[in-house]
Amino acid sequence: MGCERCNGWMMPERRVGHSASDELILGVSWRCVNCGNVVDSVIVRNRTVQAVPAAPTA
Ligand SMILES: [Zn+2]
Repeated sequence: MGCERCNGWMMPERRVGHSASDELILGVSWRCVNCGNVVDSVIVRNRTVQAVPAAPTA
């Protein structure tokens, strides 16, 4: 998996937390070791559902 910004190496990070309703959240996020871009598994799912191509920043 490469960084969507710089195509750098993404390191998996385990995320543990609690939601507002006190549910235990277990997930994995990916952080780019090159530029520090973080991609959360939830974000990835949302992007997949919406299937919206990333707009280039003008
Ligand atoms: Zn990057």
